Amino acid sequence: MAREQVTLAKRRVARAVRVGKVTVGGDSPISVQSMTTTKTADVEGTLVQIYSLAAAGAEIVRCTCNSQDAADGLRQIIPRSPVPIVADIHFHVEMALAALEAGVAALRLNPGNLRKPEEIKLVAREAGARGVPIRIGVNAGSLHPDFAKRYGGITAEAMVASALHELELFHEVGFDDVAFSVKASNVALMIAAYRLLAERVDHPLHLGVTEAGPLPGGLIKATAGIATLLAEGIGDTIRYSLTADPVEEARAGRQLLESLGLRERKGLDFIACPSCGRAEIDVVAVATEAQRELEKLGLPLQVAVMGCNVNGPGEAREADIGIAAGKGKGHLFIKGKIVEVVPEARMVEALVEEAQAIMSEGIEA
Ligand code: SF4
Repeated sequence: MAREQVTLAKRRVARAVRVGKVTVGGDSPISVQSMTTTKTADVEGTLVQIYSLAAAGAEIVRCTCNSQDAADGLRQIIPRSPVPIVADIHFHVEMALAALEAGVAALRLNPGNLRKPEEIKLVAREAGARGVPIRIGVNAGSLHPDFAKRYGGITAEAMVASALHELELFHEVGFDDVAFSVKASNVALMIAAYRLLAERVDHPLHLGVTEAGPLPGGLIKATAGIATLLAEGIGDTIRYSLTADPVEEARAGRQLLESLGLRERKGLDFIACPSCGRAEIDVVAVATEAQRELEKLGLPLQVAVMGCNVNGPGEAREADIGIAAGKGKGHLFIKGKIVEVVPEARMVEALVEEAQAIMSEGIEA
């Protein structure tokens, strides 16, 4: 039976900002970002990480530019990077200028710690002269104290006011090539701040829950914030801030967009029931092994492994390849048709064989 194709809220219309070869906003697909954890001065180490991030789905990568050595590193990294590089700037205006000199595709400025209007305007002027956009990246953890005072604490209004104040300074020098972020580690605060900002500007929004923490809690926290906004049509680029290998951030970002139907699936979409007392096979063992083996093939297939006849036939029939288990065996479905009954011990093998056959012969709808 055909399933209804449900779509999310219509995406907010944002102006387009070009970050090197990637357009953020406009009608461009929502992009995935991550940030390196290496010292930027370590050119080889940083490039290795950038390539791993790109392979995992990152389309824009940010590197810190916190010293002249880091800026010198950027100069060597940028021409060898597979994705546009954004320099992350805090405290020091000269680091923003050095990053521009090095040829970065964009800057991220933190209005909380780069506070002198003349310095901010100088960076905007230089960025404008080079056609380099700036992300105004407000963070609840480093909110400009004047705004916290004016709005009675670290509130969504205070964060948005700080972001808009920075934009006003940019406008004074005719610079408007801007994206925004208003991140907080508190998910509800972050959601409120982005909702407010989305009503006030038409610039692209970079979504993130800052300092979301280690896995798995960090994934849940970040997803709660980012996915809520995306479902409302808010957001043009996303970053998971995890206390983990940044490859996990890139992977999570990509998977979230795919699972919301906002990006085309590049890899495996694996569906498995959680198992319960009704299960007629060891679902966890079969599904875990099947997922591991199928991921090696790197095919954009939807595969389902289901433990009994409650939801099993329904899910298995809808997937490209599916197993709906009965006692110690299961029906193997290919594109909605039962093609075989396979014993539990052969399930993983059968799924892999069918995926390989699809790889060589294609799949009939
Ligand atoms: Fe339990 Fe069957 Fe549902 Fe799996 S499909 S969780 S075994 S009821």
